[in-house]
Amino acid sequence: MHSTTCITRTLSRTPRIRLTPRWRPLGRRLLHARATEYLQCNDPDLTESQRLVRTSIAKICANFPDEYWAKQEELKKFPTELYDTLAKDGWLGICMPEQYGGSGLGIAEAAVMMQTISESGGGMTAASSIHMNIFGLEPVAKFGTEEQKERWLVPLIAGRERACFGVTEPNTGLDTLKLQSSATRDGDDYVLTGSKIWISTAQNAQKMLILTRTTPLDQVKKPSQGLSLFYTDMTDAVEITEIPKMGRAAVDTNTLFFDGWRVPARDLVGKENEGFKMIMHGMNAERILIGAEALGLGYTALRRAAIYASERHVFGRPIGKNQAIQHPLADSWMKLEAARLMLYHAAKMYDQGYDSGEYANAAKYLAAEAAFEACERAVMTHGGMGYAKEYHVERYLREVFIPRIAPVSREMICNYIGERVLGLPKSY
Ligand SMILES: Cc1cc2nc3c(=O)[nH]c(=O)nc-3n(C[C@H](O)[C@H](O)[C@H](O)COP(=O)(O)OP(=O)(O)OC[C@H]3O[C@@H](n4cnc5c(N)ncnc54)[C@H](O)[C@@H]3O)c2cc1C
Repeated sequence: MHSTTCITRTLSRTPRIRLTPRWRPLGRRLLHARATEYLQCNDPDLTESQRLVRTSIAKICANFPDEYWAKQEELKKFPTELYDTLAKDGWLGICMPEQYGGSGLGIAEAAVMMQTISESGGGMTAASSIHMNIFGLEPVAKFGTEEQKERWLVPLIAGRERACFGVTEPNTGLDTLKLQSSATRDGDDYVLTGSKIWISTAQNAQKMLILTRTTPLDQVKKPSQGLSLFYTDMTDAVEITEIPKMGRAAVDTNTLFFDGWRVPARDLVGKENEGFKMIMHGMNAERILIGAEALGLGYTALRRAAIYASERHVFGRPIGKNQAIQHPLADSWMKLEAARLMLYHAAKMYDQGYDSGEYANAAKYLAAEAAFEACERAVMTHGGMGYAKEYHVERYLREVFIPRIAPVSREMICNYIGERVLGLPKSY
């Protein structure tokens, strides 16, 4: 559990993250600053450590403006420069244990980091390029052996190795417990066979955290049993094919096929057949981080819309003087702020050790929906220019679909709240 003092003390003991505490006095949350300038860091409700993270990340991201992201997309080029800068300054280990090079901070700080990276204009491209490396190895940090943590966390945090995350399968989708890939023990190895789909950064990652079945479904008491988790090298046995997609072209997403892929038994995380429990451990945090990334996109779209609405003159006055333009933007600000409060509430509860499933899911849902609406309104506010790449809002709109779909859909979140919070019968 982190208190503010505890986090501050942790920060001051963290030499790898260079924090530059130069923020303006506390003030209002205004959104009409130039999108190309530093992001505002004077939000009145940030804790001291969150504000330090916000200031430092905003400063780094100022070197990666919208034009950088538009170019990366055009070239379909992984944003190695941002990745390396964040790794060099220790940010990839923001919530990893200190003994492996991390900073041991909370999800609340990591959420600020991811929101800021996305809000700088990097959107889901920037966020997805590091997302898995920020929190994906939480199951390893919690359930791995000392030898595994030393072997895996240290190079990951230092930026020497990149990881991807392999859960989704083509035939089973959100019905994770029915996944069909399998691992069979053979001497000192497991032999993996099957396929995965939508695996982001597989072209750029050396390692994958993969969930696969080690005991057939018909031989377990509960479907959540019999799955195992491995963190292992992506060898030539894995055939990777990129999926052409709507947005975020700079960060690849792929279909994987493997048949007879030998994975050393020492790459099994925790106990065999208990992988689902372990992977679930990181899920709430992942929802909070994705929600924060969505928020960032929503705010950056709204900021661009507000700027354009004041500068574009038609019928002899700024278009933002028309309430049909102004009110939807005001409405979006309120919805984003409401989602932001829910999101940081969920993060705080998570950091305090509360099982925050309902809040993490609700926060991801609300943030993604508010961000989607803000991005759509930003495009419409720009009129024809909303459709031009030059103004970036069409890129935001294409990317903001991702947090609505992944890692869990809106419908499955409603199912979760319906069943777990409202006590209603399972509908499927
Ligand atoms: C850009 C991108 C990156 C991704 N990266 C990764 C990654 O790195 N690793 C990884 O493992 N996965 C990744 N995913 C996969 C993502 O998590 C899945 O797409 C998501 O979980 C939805 O699964 P599905 O696409 O199979 O949808 P399906 O399971 O086929 O569902 C399709 C639709 O039906 C709805 N539906 C299904 N069942 C129900 C029900 N019972 N009640 C109500 N509605 C229902 C869903 O909500 C959804 O709208 C990524 C996806 C995208 C788009």
